[in-house]
Amino acid sequence: MPAEPPIDSPRRLFEAYELLAAGSTRPIAGGTDVMVAITGELGPIPERMLDLSRLEELRGISLEQGALLLGARATYTEIRRSTVCREHLPALVEAAATIGAAQIQNRGTIGGNLANASPAGDTLPVLLAADAVILVGGQRGEREIPVADFFLDYRKTALAPDELILQVQVPLPRGRSLRFRKVGTRRAQAISKVVMALAWQDLGSAGWKDVRVALGSVAATPIRARATEAVLEGAGPTPEVADRAAETLAGELQPIDDVRSTAEYRRAVSARILHRLLRDAGGW
Ligand SMILES: Cc1cc2nc3c(=O)[nH]c(=O)nc-3n(C[C@H](O)[C@H](O)[C@H](O)COP(=O)(O)OP(=O)(O)OC[C@H]3O[C@@H](n4cnc5c(N)ncnc54)[C@H](O)[C@@H]3O)c2cc1C
Repeated sequence: MPAEPPIDSPRRLFEAYELLAAGSTRPIAGGTDVMVAITGELGPIPERMLDLSRLEELRGISLEQGALLLGARATYTEIRRSTVCREHLPALVEAAATIGAAQIQNRGTIGGNLANASPAGDTLPVLLAADAVILVGGQRGEREIPVADFFLDYRKTALAPDELILQVQVPLPRGRSLRFRKVGTRRAQAISKVVMALAWQDLGSAGWKDVRVALGSVAATPIRARATEAVLEGAGPTPEVADRAAETLAGELQPIDDVRSTAEYRRAVSARILHRLLRDAGGW
């Protein structure tokens, strides 16, 4: 294995921004993705590394003004243990519980999952379905990026090289429901074959509104299935609607064949998961 790159561990955000602006440095949070990369087998080794572990601004999970605020360094174990997350965003807790196993959950962070931008990142469909917003910062200031605008292409994001993810902000509209499902080979240490989050607000006789169907592992980036959302918008979770939505989803997705699964399996399983979620929501 090659020598580890030099690492800076700033305590203050402005110092981290200066180091990033100087270029050629790669942030490291939990290291569960980066440490795999620094063997050099998966691309160039970073010249320097920027350790985020002393930046207190990136920590914490709280509830403020109707939104759940997750510091970029919130780990999966912290999310699982957080009473605020369990009460207000249990789908994220479920997603966190499926990631790797205990060791990865102790180290891996939500900011790392976003910046790594794997199409199989398990928290990403939940954040997409929840209309989450990412607060990022650098020497040029801070800005907010909706998760829906964050993933540009395979592992390409809207984050500039001199910016850090600071916080993930999840609005918590009254009456929204959000469900999560992951299909992998095993119950732990399994990269997803399909991962889905479904969100809606139930208006009773007026049907569902603000429906979100978000998926991972079925495209180059985490995606929303807009045609399927349109079928569900204004409708209710009846058997007929579920059939139509599942059929639309199977037609809408263009997954790939890869080592983990075939396109055909992914398409069929996605439709099946959606149907099951709608059946559970409808109680039939
Ligand atoms: C054995 C194993 C099992 C795994 N299982 C799963 C799984 O089931 N599901 C899943 O989704 N993932 C899984 N992963 C991947 C990984 O654990 C997650 O993506 C994790 O969230 C990465 O977070 P981290 O803090 O470790 O990121 P790091 O490795 O520290 O960083 C990842 C990337 O994000 C950048 N980065 C990190 N934090 C910031 C920030 N605040 N601002 C800007 N850039 C930043 C880094 O520069 C790097 O490019 C697994 C990994 C391993 C090794």
